[in-house]
Amino acid sequence: MKKNDSRIYDPAVECMDRDELHRIQLERLKETVKLVYDKVPMYRERMDAKGVKPEDIQTLEDLSKLPFTNKSDLRDQFPFGLLAADKSEIVRIQGSSGTTGKPIVSGYTENDVEVWTEMVARALAAAGGGKDDIVQVTYGYGLFTGGLGAHQGATRIGAMTVPMSSGNTQRQLMMMHDLGATMLCCTPSYAIFLGESLKELGYDLSEFQLKSGCFGAEPWTEEMRDKLEELFDINAYNIYGLTEIAGPGVSYECPAKDGMHICEDHVIAEIIDPETGEPLPYGTRGELVFTTITKTGMPMIRYRTHDICVLTEEPCSCGRTHVRMGRITGRTDDMLIIRGVNVFPSQIESALLRVSGVAPHYMLIVDRVNSTDTLEVQVELTDEMFSDKVADLERVRDEIKEQIKSVVGISATVKLVPPKSIQRSEGKAKRTIDKRGLTE
Ligand code: ADP
Ligand code: ZN
Repeated sequence: MKKNDSRIYDPAVECMDRDELHRIQLERLKETVKLVYDKVPMYRERMDAKGVKPEDIQTLEDLSKLPFTNKSDLRDQFPFGLLAADKSEIVRIQGSSGTTGKPIVSGYTENDVEVWTEMVARALAAAGGGKDDIVQVTYGYGLFTGGLGAHQGATRIGAMTVPMSSGNTQRQLMMMHDLGATMLCCTPSYAIFLGESLKELGYDLSEFQLKSGCFGAEPWTEEMRDKLEELFDINAYNIYGLTEIAGPGVSYECPAKDGMHICEDHVIAEIIDPETGEPLPYGTRGELVFTTITKTGMPMIRYRTHDICVLTEEPCSCGRTHVRMGRITGRTDDMLIIRGVNVFPSQIESALLRVSGVAPHYMLIVDRVNSTDTLEVQVELTDEMFSDKVADLERVRDEIKEQIKSVVGISATVKLVPPKSIQRSEGKAKRTIDKRGLTE
C-alpha cells in the first residue's frame, strides 16, 4: 500500500467548529424550507397537512417536524414537479441509474453543479489528489452521476482528467499505463475486474503509477478494500452519493479510512428507524435520511435513501469535524428476507472474502421450494483453484458455508462455478436473483 498523502481541500469548512457548523446549518435549513414551501406545491401541501409552517423551524431538532420525501415522490412528480427554481435556471439534468425500478431525474442550477463539484473535489483531495495527478474517470458518463461528478471534481482540483467512461477494459488499462494515471475512479466491482485483467494481459504492476482510487456507487466491504489495495498497490477510498441529493461526494473517506465524512455544510444527515420513521441517535444503525441545505434547483427535504448505515460524531484523527457514516451495509430494498432472517449481499461478500483464494465474484439465488426459502451462493473459482483436487475444492466449499453461517446466521448451498462464468459489470454489479418474486 502506498503512503497516504491526504490534503484538506477546504480546511475552514471541513475542520469547522461544530457549534459554528450547526449555526450555519440552521440558517441554511430555514432558507431551504422557506424556498420549498413557497415554490414546490408538494412540499407546501405536505407541510400544511402536518400543520408545519416555515417559521416553526427554529432549531435543528425541528427538522423532525418536516415530512419525508420518497423516491416514489420523484417518480410521481417526474420530471419537473419538484423544481424550486424556474426551468430557465436549470443547467443540468442527471438521472438515477435505475438500479431499482423506473429512472428518476434531478435538475441542477448553476449553484447546484458548483456545490456538487466542491463535494467531489473534497473527496479527491482527501484521497491525496491535486494538480499533479492524472485522474482516470471510469464511471459511466451520461445521466448517471458517477462520470460527470468525478470529472467535475477532478477538474476542480486541477488534476489532468481522463474521461474514459466505463467499459472497454483493454483500452482502460492501456490508457492507465501509457498516461501514467495516478488515481482511478470507478465502481469497486469494475476495479476488481480491471485489476485481474491487468495481470491477465501480461502487464507488470510496476509499470503503473496508480496511488489511490475513489470507489463507490455500490456497497462494498473491508475485505474488498484489502483485495483492491493488493491488486493495484494503492490506497482504496470509499465515496458515496446519490442523484437525488447531488451525486458522488455527498460523503467521502479520509486517510483514517474509518467512515465517510458527510459534507454537512451542504446536507443534514439523520438516521431513522425504517419501520417507524423515528429519528435514532448517533451510533445506531438505521436508514439514512438527507436534507439538502444549499441546493436551489431541486432541494430535498428529509429524503429517505433506503441505505442502511451508522453515523458517528466522534472526532476523526484527520482533523475534519463533519460526522462520518459507516459503510452502507445494504439498502432496505436490497435486503433479502430468507427464512425470516434479514440478509444483505454485502454480508455474503464479507463472508466469502474471508476464505483465502476466493475471488469477489458471486451471485445469490433465492428461491422457495416446498414453502421454504432457499439460498444458493454461486462463487467463482480462481484459475489457480480450478485446477485443484476435488478434495481441496470441497474443503473450500465447506469453509465458505461455515463463514456464511457465522456471518449471516443461516445455511446456504454453495456452488463453485468455473472462472469467468459470473457476468462482469462495468458499473454497478448485480448480485441477486430472487426467483420468489417471479412466482408470487
Ligand atoms: P440508483 O442506484 O438508486 O439507481 P444512484 O445512481 O443515484 O441511483 O445511486 C445511489 C445509490 O448508490 C445510493 O443510494 C446507494 O445505495 C448506492 N451507493 C452509492 N455510493 C455507495 C457507496 N460508496 N457504498 C454503498 N452504496 C453506495
Ligand atoms: Zn477523517
